[in-house]
Amino acid sequence: MGRVIKVLRLDTKSGRRRADRGRALVTGGAGFLGSHLCERLLGNGYEVIALDNFHTGKKYNLAGIERDAAFSCIKHDVVDALPQDLVVDEIYNLACPASPPHYQADPIHTFKTNVFGSINLLELARRHEAKIFQASTSEVYGDPLVHPQPEGYFGNVNTHGPRSCYDEGKRSAETLFYDYSRTYGIDVRVARIFNTYGPRMQPDDGRVVSNFIVQALRGDDITVYGSGSQTRSFCFVDDLIEGFIRLVNAPEAPQHPVNIGNPVEFTIMELAELVIDYTNSRSRIVHRPLPVDDPKQRKPDISFAREHLGWEPKVALAEGLAHTTAYFDALLGGRKFATSQRARTASVREVVAL
Ligand code: NAD
Ligand code: UDP
Repeated sequence: MGRVIKVLRLDTKSGRRRADRGRALVTGGAGFLGSHLCERLLGNGYEVIALDNFHTGKKYNLAGIERDAAFSCIKHDVVDALPQDLVVDEIYNLACPASPPHYQADPIHTFKTNVFGSINLLELARRHEAKIFQASTSEVYGDPLVHPQPEGYFGNVNTHGPRSCYDEGKRSAETLFYDYSRTYGIDVRVARIFNTYGPRMQPDDGRVVSNFIVQALRGDDITVYGSGSQTRSFCFVDDLIEGFIRLVNAPEAPQHPVNIGNPVEFTIMELAELVIDYTNSRSRIVHRPLPVDDPKQRKPDISFAREHLGWEPKVALAEGLAHTTAYFDALLGGRKFATSQRARTASVREVVAL
Protein backbone atom coordinates (compact mmCIF):
# COMPACT_ATOMS: atom_id res chain seq x y z
CA MET A 1 0.00 0.00 0.00
CA GLY A 2 1.32 3.45 -0.88
CA ARG A 3 2.26 6.01 1.72
CA VAL A 4 0.31 9.27 1.34
CA ILE A 5 2.70 12.12 2.03
CA LYS A 6 -0.06 14.73 2.24
CA VAL A 7 -3.79 14.15 2.43
CA LEU A 8 -6.12 16.06 0.12
CA ARG A 9 -8.13 18.80 1.75
CA LEU A 10 -10.37 21.63 0.63
CA ASP A 11 -8.82 24.99 -0.13
CA THR A 12 -10.75 26.89 2.55
CA LYS A 13 -8.23 29.73 2.88
CA SER A 14 -8.51 31.05 -0.65
CA GLY A 15 -12.13 30.01 -1.07
CA ARG A 16 -11.14 28.88 -4.57
CA ARG A 17 -13.27 26.15 -6.03
CA ARG A 18 -10.81 23.40 -6.79
CA ALA A 19 -11.05 20.33 -8.93
CA ASP A 20 -13.17 22.08 -11.56
CA ARG A 21 -11.78 19.61 -14.05
CA GLY A 22 -11.82 16.51 -11.82
CA ARG A 23 -9.00 14.53 -10.26
CA ALA A 24 -5.83 13.67 -12.15
CA LEU A 25 -3.30 11.04 -11.16
CA VAL A 26 0.25 11.72 -12.38
CA THR A 27 2.58 8.73 -12.00
CA GLY A 28 6.23 9.78 -12.02
CA GLY A 29 4.88 13.09 -10.68
CA ALA A 30 8.06 13.92 -8.73
CA GLY A 31 10.25 13.60 -11.83
CA PHE A 32 11.41 16.18 -14.35
CA LEU A 33 8.39 16.12 -16.68
CA GLY A 34 5.90 14.87 -14.09
CA SER A 35 6.45 17.81 -11.73
CA HIS A 36 5.91 20.32 -14.56
CA LEU A 37 2.76 18.45 -15.59
CA CYS A 38 1.39 18.48 -12.00
CA GLU A 39 1.89 22.25 -11.89
CA ARG A 40 0.15 22.74 -15.20
CA LEU A 41 -2.82 20.55 -14.23
CA LEU A 42 -3.24 22.36 -10.91
CA GLY A 43 -3.22 25.65 -12.84
CA ASN A 44 -5.91 24.22 -15.12
CA GLY A 45 -8.20 23.53 -12.14
CA TYR A 46 -7.56 19.83 -11.48
CA GLU A 47 -7.09 18.16 -8.14
CA VAL A 48 -3.75 16.38 -8.63
CA ILE A 49 -2.27 13.27 -7.05
CA ALA A 50 1.38 12.57 -7.81
CA LEU A 51 2.39 8.92 -7.39
CA ASP A 52 6.10 8.18 -7.41
CA ASN A 53 8.62 5.69 -6.04
CA PHE A 54 11.27 8.47 -5.91
CA HIS A 55 13.77 6.43 -7.88
CA THR A 56 14.83 9.46 -9.94
CA GLY A 57 12.12 11.86 -8.73
CA LYS A 58 12.85 14.37 -5.98
CA LYS A 59 10.61 15.87 -3.32
CA TYR A 60 12.14 19.30 -4.00
CA ASN A 61 10.74 19.18 -7.55
CA LEU A 62 7.35 19.54 -5.85
CA ALA A 63 8.36 22.46 -3.60
CA GLY A 64 6.28 24.97 -5.58
CA ILE A 65 3.05 22.96 -5.26
CA GLU A 66 3.36 20.84 -2.14
CA ARG A 67 1.35 23.36 -0.09
CA ASP A 68 -1.41 23.62 -2.69
CA ALA A 69 -4.57 22.27 -1.11
CA ALA A 70 -5.50 20.50 -4.33
CA PHE A 71 -2.22 18.58 -4.46
CA SER A 72 -1.15 15.39 -2.75
CA CYS A 73 1.60 12.86 -3.25
CA ILE A 74 1.76 9.11 -2.71
CA LYS A 75 5.01 7.20 -2.41
CA HIS A 76 4.34 4.01 -4.35
CA ASP A 77 5.79 1.83 -7.07
CA VAL A 78 3.49 1.30 -10.10
CA VAL A 79 4.75 -2.29 -10.38
CA ASP A 80 2.86 -3.09 -7.15
CA ALA A 81 -0.93 -3.24 -6.81
CA LEU A 82 -2.27 0.31 -6.60
CA PRO A 83 -3.90 1.66 -3.42
CA GLN A 84 -7.52 0.41 -3.41
CA ASP A 85 -9.02 3.79 -2.50
CA LEU A 86 -7.65 5.67 -5.54
CA VAL A 87 -10.54 7.30 -7.42
CA VAL A 88 -9.55 9.33 -10.47
CA ASP A 89 -10.96 10.97 -13.61
CA GLU A 90 -7.75 11.17 -15.64
CA ILE A 91 -4.45 9.27 -15.45
CA TYR A 92 -1.09 10.45 -16.78
CA ASN A 93 1.43 7.61 -16.76
CA LEU A 94 4.95 9.06 -16.70
CA ALA A 95 6.47 6.57 -14.24
CA CYS A 96 9.74 5.25 -15.68
CA PRO A 97 13.36 6.39 -15.46
CA ALA A 98 14.14 8.14 -18.75
CA SER A 99 17.93 8.48 -18.73
CA PRO A 100 19.93 5.52 -20.12
CA PRO A 101 22.18 5.08 -17.02
CA HIS A 102 19.08 5.07 -14.77
CA TYR A 103 16.88 2.76 -16.82
CA GLN A 104 19.80 0.37 -17.42
CA ALA A 105 20.73 0.19 -13.70
CA ASP A 106 17.88 -2.28 -13.04
CA PRO A 107 16.64 -3.32 -16.49
CA ILE A 108 14.18 -5.92 -15.22
CA HIS A 109 12.50 -3.39 -12.99
CA THR A 110 12.38 -0.93 -15.91
CA PHE A 111 10.60 -3.53 -18.03
CA LYS A 112 8.20 -4.36 -15.18
CA THR A 113 7.51 -0.66 -14.66
CA ASN A 114 6.38 -0.37 -18.26
CA VAL A 115 4.39 -3.62 -18.43
CA PHE A 116 3.03 -4.30 -14.91
CA GLY A 117 2.76 -0.56 -14.25
CA SER A 118 0.76 -0.01 -17.44
CA ILE A 119 -1.56 -2.93 -16.65
CA ASN A 120 -2.18 -1.63 -13.10
CA LEU A 121 -2.99 1.83 -14.42
CA LEU A 122 -5.11 0.61 -17.33
CA GLU A 123 -7.14 -1.50 -14.87
CA LEU A 124 -7.60 1.62 -12.73
CA ALA A 125 -8.76 3.53 -15.82
CA ARG A 126 -11.14 0.71 -16.64
CA ARG A 127 -12.63 0.68 -13.10
CA HIS A 128 -13.26 4.44 -13.08
CA GLU A 129 -13.86 5.02 -16.80
CA ALA A 130 -10.94 7.43 -16.67
CA LYS A 131 -9.11 8.84 -19.67
CA ILE A 132 -5.48 7.65 -19.65
CA PHE A 133 -2.33 9.23 -21.11
CA GLN A 134 0.88 7.32 -21.74
CA ALA A 135 4.34 8.91 -21.93
CA SER A 136 5.86 6.84 -24.73
CA THR A 137 9.10 7.69 -26.46
CA SER A 138 10.97 8.21 -29.71
CA GLU A 139 13.03 5.20 -28.55
CA VAL A 140 10.27 3.02 -30.03
CA TYR A 141 11.89 3.93 -33.39
CA GLY A 142 15.22 2.53 -32.14
CA ASP A 143 18.11 3.40 -34.48
CA PRO A 144 15.78 4.65 -37.23
CA LEU A 145 16.23 3.82 -40.88
CA VAL A 146 13.59 6.40 -41.85
CA HIS A 147 14.34 10.08 -41.25
CA PRO A 148 12.57 12.11 -39.93
CA GLN A 149 10.37 9.65 -38.08
CA PRO A 150 6.60 9.71 -38.77
CA GLU A 151 4.21 7.84 -36.45
CA GLY A 152 3.63 5.18 -39.13
CA TYR A 153 7.28 4.05 -39.04
CA PHE A 154 7.57 0.75 -37.11
CA GLY A 155 11.16 1.33 -36.01
CA ASN A 156 14.44 -0.54 -35.86
CA VAL A 157 14.86 -1.79 -32.30
CA ASN A 158 17.31 -4.31 -30.86
CA THR A 159 15.31 -6.73 -28.69
CA HIS A 160 18.20 -7.87 -26.49
CA GLY A 161 20.65 -4.99 -26.05
CA PRO A 162 21.20 -2.75 -23.01
CA ARG A 163 18.58 -0.22 -24.24
CA SER A 164 15.96 -2.90 -24.91
CA CYS A 165 14.44 -2.90 -21.41
CA TYR A 166 13.33 0.68 -22.07
CA ASP A 167 12.62 0.54 -25.82
CA GLU A 168 10.77 -2.78 -25.75
CA GLY A 169 9.11 -1.91 -22.42
CA LYS A 170 7.68 1.26 -23.95
CA ARG A 171 6.66 -0.62 -27.12
CA SER A 172 4.85 -3.23 -24.99
CA ALA A 173 3.11 -0.46 -23.09
CA GLU A 174 1.84 1.02 -26.37
CA THR A 175 0.47 -2.42 -27.29
CA LEU A 176 -1.30 -2.71 -23.93
CA PHE A 177 -2.82 0.76 -24.21
CA TYR A 178 -4.38 0.07 -27.61
CA ASP A 179 -5.48 -3.45 -26.62
CA TYR A 180 -7.27 -2.04 -23.56
CA SER A 181 -8.81 0.65 -25.75
CA ARG A 182 -10.11 -1.89 -28.31
CA THR A 183 -11.19 -4.43 -25.68
CA TYR A 184 -12.78 -2.17 -23.06
CA GLY A 185 -13.40 1.10 -24.92
CA ILE A 186 -10.98 3.07 -22.72
CA ASP A 187 -10.02 6.54 -23.97
CA VAL A 188 -6.24 6.34 -24.39
CA ARG A 189 -3.83 9.06 -25.54
CA VAL A 190 -0.22 8.12 -26.28
CA ALA A 191 2.55 10.69 -26.85
CA ARG A 192 5.88 9.65 -28.34
CA ILE A 193 8.19 12.10 -26.63
CA PHE A 194 11.44 13.18 -28.30
CA ASN A 195 14.45 14.39 -26.24
CA THR A 196 13.13 17.01 -23.86
CA TYR A 197 15.16 19.22 -21.51
CA GLY A 198 14.67 22.03 -19.02
CA PRO A 199 14.74 22.99 -15.35
CA ARG A 200 14.35 20.08 -12.86
CA MET A 201 16.45 17.60 -14.78
CA GLN A 202 18.81 16.12 -12.23
CA PRO A 203 22.44 17.35 -12.42
CA ASP A 204 23.59 13.70 -12.31
CA ASP A 205 20.79 12.50 -14.58
CA GLY A 206 23.22 11.42 -17.32
CA ARG A 207 21.29 12.84 -20.27
CA VAL A 208 23.18 14.99 -22.71
CA VAL A 209 21.75 18.46 -22.06
CA SER A 210 22.08 18.27 -18.26
CA ASN A 211 25.53 16.64 -18.53
CA PHE A 212 26.90 19.31 -20.88
CA ILE A 213 25.50 22.27 -18.93
CA VAL A 214 26.71 20.97 -15.57
CA GLN A 215 30.14 20.13 -17.02
CA ALA A 216 30.40 23.58 -18.62
CA LEU A 217 29.36 25.41 -15.44
CA ARG A 218 31.91 23.45 -13.40
CA GLY A 219 34.67 23.89 -16.01
CA ASP A 220 34.90 20.10 -16.35
CA ASP A 221 35.55 18.31 -19.63
CA ILE A 222 32.49 18.06 -21.92
CA THR A 223 32.02 14.36 -22.63
CA VAL A 224 30.96 13.80 -26.24
CA TYR A 225 30.21 10.11 -26.82
CA GLY A 226 31.60 8.89 -30.14
CA SER A 227 32.42 11.47 -32.81
CA GLY A 228 29.43 13.64 -31.87
CA SER A 229 28.00 13.36 -35.40
CA GLN A 230 24.86 11.61 -34.09
CA THR A 231 21.83 13.91 -34.02
CA ARG A 232 18.97 14.68 -31.64
CA SER A 233 16.13 17.22 -31.73
CA PHE A 234 15.64 18.99 -28.39
CA CYS A 235 12.27 20.14 -27.09
CA PHE A 236 11.90 22.58 -24.19
CA VAL A 237 9.74 21.25 -21.36
CA ASP A 238 7.05 23.99 -21.55
CA ASP A 239 6.41 23.19 -25.21
CA LEU A 240 6.16 19.50 -24.45
CA ILE A 241 3.64 19.96 -21.63
CA GLU A 242 1.49 22.12 -23.90
CA GLY A 243 1.57 19.25 -26.42
CA PHE A 244 0.43 16.76 -23.72
CA ILE A 245 -2.49 18.98 -22.73
CA ARG A 246 -3.61 19.44 -26.31
CA LEU A 247 -3.39 15.72 -26.98
CA VAL A 248 -5.43 14.80 -23.89
CA ASN A 249 -8.03 17.51 -24.55
CA ALA A 250 -8.44 16.79 -28.28
CA PRO A 251 -12.16 16.02 -28.80
CA GLU A 252 -11.37 12.86 -30.80
CA ALA A 253 -8.79 10.41 -29.45
CA PRO A 254 -6.20 9.77 -32.21
CA GLN A 255 -6.19 6.05 -33.05
CA HIS A 256 -2.39 5.89 -32.83
CA PRO A 257 0.51 7.40 -30.83
CA VAL A 258 1.42 11.02 -31.62
CA ASN A 259 4.95 12.43 -31.94
CA ILE A 260 5.58 15.37 -29.59
CA GLY A 261 8.99 16.93 -30.03
CA ASN A 262 10.96 19.72 -31.62
CA PRO A 263 11.87 19.00 -35.25
CA VAL A 264 15.01 21.18 -35.27
CA GLU A 265 17.92 18.74 -35.42
CA PHE A 266 21.42 19.25 -33.99
CA THR A 267 24.52 17.09 -33.93
CA ILE A 268 25.77 16.37 -30.41
CA MET A 269 29.00 18.20 -31.30
CA GLU A 270 26.95 21.29 -32.24
CA LEU A 271 25.18 21.07 -28.89
CA ALA A 272 28.51 20.83 -27.03
CA GLU A 273 29.87 23.93 -28.81
CA LEU A 274 26.64 25.83 -28.22
CA VAL A 275 26.70 25.07 -24.49
CA ILE A 276 30.38 26.05 -24.16
CA ASP A 277 29.78 29.33 -25.97
CA TYR A 278 26.59 30.03 -24.12
CA THR A 279 28.10 29.51 -20.68
CA ASN A 280 31.39 31.15 -21.68
CA SER A 281 33.04 28.06 -20.25
CA ARG A 282 36.70 27.10 -20.39
CA SER A 283 35.73 23.41 -20.62
CA ARG A 284 37.38 21.25 -23.29
CA ILE A 285 35.53 18.75 -25.44
CA VAL A 286 36.71 15.17 -24.89
CA HIS A 287 35.45 12.05 -26.63
CA ARG A 288 34.23 8.92 -24.84
CA PRO A 289 33.06 5.59 -26.30
CA LEU A 290 29.67 5.62 -27.98
CA PRO A 291 27.14 3.57 -25.96
CA VAL A 292 25.85 0.33 -27.55
CA ASP A 293 22.88 0.84 -29.92
CA ASP A 294 23.06 4.64 -29.59
CA PRO A 295 20.68 5.94 -32.32
CA LYS A 296 22.58 7.76 -35.09
CA GLN A 297 19.87 10.26 -35.94
CA ARG A 298 16.55 11.37 -34.54
CA LYS A 299 14.07 14.00 -35.61
CA PRO A 300 10.28 13.91 -35.26
CA ASP A 301 7.84 14.37 -38.08
CA ILE A 302 5.21 16.43 -36.23
CA SER A 303 2.76 16.86 -39.14
CA PHE A 304 -0.01 15.09 -37.22
CA ALA A 305 0.37 17.24 -34.10
CA ARG A 306 0.51 20.41 -36.21
CA GLU A 307 -2.59 19.52 -38.19
CA HIS A 308 -4.78 17.84 -35.57
CA LEU A 309 -3.68 19.44 -32.29
CA GLY A 310 -2.64 22.85 -33.65
CA TRP A 311 0.62 22.29 -31.76
CA GLU A 312 4.23 23.01 -32.56
CA PRO A 313 7.16 24.01 -30.33
CA LYS A 314 7.76 27.71 -29.75
CA VAL A 315 10.97 27.76 -27.69
CA ALA A 316 14.24 27.77 -29.65
CA LEU A 317 17.18 25.80 -28.25
CA ALA A 318 19.17 28.91 -27.27
CA GLU A 319 16.25 30.27 -25.26
CA GLY A 320 15.57 26.91 -23.60
CA LEU A 321 19.26 26.53 -22.79
CA ALA A 322 19.18 29.96 -21.11
CA HIS A 323 16.39 28.85 -18.75
CA THR A 324 18.03 25.50 -18.10
CA THR A 325 21.49 26.97 -17.51
CA ALA A 326 20.05 29.52 -15.06
CA TYR A 327 18.38 26.66 -13.19
CA PHE A 328 21.57 24.59 -12.92
CA ASP A 329 23.62 27.67 -12.11
CA ALA A 330 21.39 28.37 -9.10
CA LEU A 331 21.32 24.69 -8.12
CA LEU A 332 25.11 24.43 -8.22
CA GLY A 333 25.59 27.51 -6.08
CA GLY A 334 25.58 30.31 -8.65
CA ARG A 335 28.19 31.21 -11.15
CA LYS A 336 27.92 34.05 -13.65
CA PHE A 337 27.90 33.07 -17.29
CA ALA A 338 27.68 35.14 -20.44
CA THR A 339 25.85 34.58 -23.67
CA SER A 340 27.99 34.67 -26.78
CA GLN A 341 26.98 35.98 -30.15
CA ARG A 342 27.11 32.43 -31.54
CA ALA A 343 24.31 31.21 -29.28
CA ARG A 344 22.12 34.10 -30.39
CA THR A 345 22.80 33.22 -34.04
CA ALA A 346 21.72 29.60 -33.42
CA SER A 347 18.44 30.84 -32.06
CA VAL A 348 17.78 32.79 -35.29
CA ARG A 349 18.59 29.67 -37.34
CA GLU A 350 15.97 27.70 -35.45
CA VAL A 351 13.23 30.24 -35.85
CA VAL A 352 13.88 30.20 -39.59
CA ALA A 353 13.92 26.38 -39.65
CA LEU A 354 10.59 26.13 -37.86
P1 NAD B 1 12.48 11.28 -14.72
O1 NAD B 1 13.42 10.17 -14.46
O2 NAD B 1 12.82 12.65 -14.21
O3 NAD B 1 11.03 10.94 -14.18
C1 NAD B 1 10.53 9.64 -14.03
C2 NAD B 1 9.75 9.59 -12.72
O4 NAD B 1 9.15 8.30 -12.59
C3 NAD B 1 10.64 9.80 -11.51
O5 NAD B 1 10.03 10.67 -10.60
C4 NAD B 1 10.78 8.39 -10.93
O6 NAD B 1 11.07 8.39 -9.55
C5 NAD B 1 9.42 7.80 -11.28
N1 NAD B 1 9.40 6.33 -11.37
C6 NAD B 1 10.28 5.54 -12.05
N2 NAD B 1 9.92 4.25 -11.92
C7 NAD B 1 8.78 4.23 -11.17
C8 NAD B 1 7.93 3.21 -10.68
N3 NAD B 1 8.19 1.91 -10.94
N4 NAD B 1 6.88 3.55 -9.92
C9 NAD B 1 6.62 4.84 -9.62
N5 NAD B 1 7.39 5.87 -10.04
C10 NAD B 1 8.45 5.56 -10.82
O7 NAD B 1 12.27 11.33 -16.30
P2 NAD B 1 11.39 12.29 -17.21
O8 NAD B 1 12.28 12.86 -18.23
O9 NAD B 1 10.58 13.20 -16.38
O10 NAD B 1 10.46 11.22 -17.95
C11 NAD B 1 9.09 11.08 -17.61
C12 NAD B 1 8.45 10.11 -18.59
O11 NAD B 1 8.56 10.61 -19.91
C13 NAD B 1 9.09 8.72 -18.58
O12 NAD B 1 8.08 7.74 -18.70
C14 NAD B 1 9.95 8.73 -19.82
O13 NAD B 1 10.12 7.44 -20.36
C15 NAD B 1 9.17 9.63 -20.75
N6 NAD B 1 10.05 10.27 -21.74
C16 NAD B 1 10.83 11.33 -21.42
C17 NAD B 1 11.66 11.88 -22.37
C18 NAD B 1 12.52 13.07 -22.08
O14 NAD B 1 13.27 13.49 -22.98
N7 NAD B 1 12.47 13.68 -20.93
C19 NAD B 1 11.72 11.33 -23.67
C20 NAD B 1 10.92 10.24 -23.95
C21 NAD B 1 10.07 9.72 -22.99
N1 UDP C 1 25.69 11.91 -25.01
C1 UDP C 1 26.95 12.45 -25.05
N2 UDP C 1 27.51 12.84 -23.88
C2 UDP C 1 26.88 12.74 -22.68
C3 UDP C 1 25.58 12.18 -22.65
C4 UDP C 1 25.01 11.75 -23.85
O1 UDP C 1 27.57 12.59 -26.11
O2 UDP C 1 27.47 13.14 -21.65
C5 UDP C 1 25.07 11.52 -26.30
C6 UDP C 1 24.46 10.11 -26.32
O3 UDP C 1 25.44 9.16 -26.69
C7 UDP C 1 23.38 10.28 -27.38
C8 UDP C 1 22.92 11.72 -27.22
O4 UDP C 1 23.98 12.39 -26.53
O5 UDP C 1 23.93 10.14 -28.67
C9 UDP C 1 21.64 11.86 -26.41
O6 UDP C 1 21.82 11.14 -25.21
P1 UDP C 1 20.71 11.13 -24.05
O7 UDP C 1 21.15 10.11 -23.06
O8 UDP C 1 20.44 12.51 -23.60
O9 UDP C 1 19.38 10.67 -24.80
P2 UDP C 1 19.05 9.42 -25.75
O10 UDP C 1 20.30 8.72 -26.16
O11 UDP C 1 18.18 8.56 -24.91
O12 UDP C 1 18.38 10.05 -26.90
